[in-house]
Amino acid sequence: MQLLCDCHIHTISSGHAYSSVTECARAAFIKGLSLIAITDHAPSLPGGPHIFHFHNLRVLPPVLEGVRLLRGVEVNILDGDGLLDLDDHMLSVLDLVIASLHLPCYQAGGRKENTRAVISAMQSRHVDILGHPDDGRVPLDLDEIARAAAATGTMLEINNSSLMPISFREKAEENYAFLLESAIRYNARLVVNSDAHFHEDVGNFTKAVPLLVRHGIPESMVANTTPERILSWLKS
Ligand SMILES: [Zn+2]
Ligand SMILES: [Zn+2]
Repeated sequence: MQLLCDCHIHTISSGHAYSSVTECARAAFIKGLSLIAITDHAPSLPGGPHIFHFHNLRVLPPVLEGVRLLRGVEVNILDGDGLLDLDDHMLSVLDLVIASLHLPCYQAGGRKENTRAVISAMQSRHVDILGHPDDGRVPLDLDEIARAAAATGTMLEINNSSLMPISFREKAEENYAFLLESAIRYNARLVVNSDAHFHEDVGNFTKAVPLLVRHGIPESMVANTTPERILSWLKS
């Protein structure tokens, strides 16, 4: 499976990541990627950037170091109604939006409430990707989520960082086994992302791709095989 895009990358602006936009673009070029999305954390995560960071992303060039650059964000799902921490206007001017549950910004409830939060977020016309739906600390009804992803045209992220031994997320591999089974059933769209917090990790899909292969996922379900496909699968 050849993946030419990485759509979940954090830079020094996230407050707990350690490389610049240019370093990430250069690393992507060296690894043979054609497109990356810069998706720093939204303001509610401690250490995250001010909203001005997102307004000013327009100063970045569309192509940097030979790699197509998308201006994005990883927004926080804040409550059971799927409230996000950037407003619709801000999200509408960005190229790509990932919505994720992060425990500093979301009080984990039971499976039913967490699932409702995530499905509500996916119903936003601005949310392109559900980030790392794999953390055993926030139980989700993964079958319901795959069905809602297919119905709303939201891509489900297979997050390489969650699968690394140093990850603080729990039981990611087991959760992905359930999720992928349901994704096949509903023909939900998937995207493999590094979630890099350091430029050397840009394009690192070493855990996620073998997982997809083991579960018999065809390339036709995966968004980031080519820039054309990921761009055409974004909601707006
Ligand atoms: Zn982070
Ligand atoms: Zn995240």
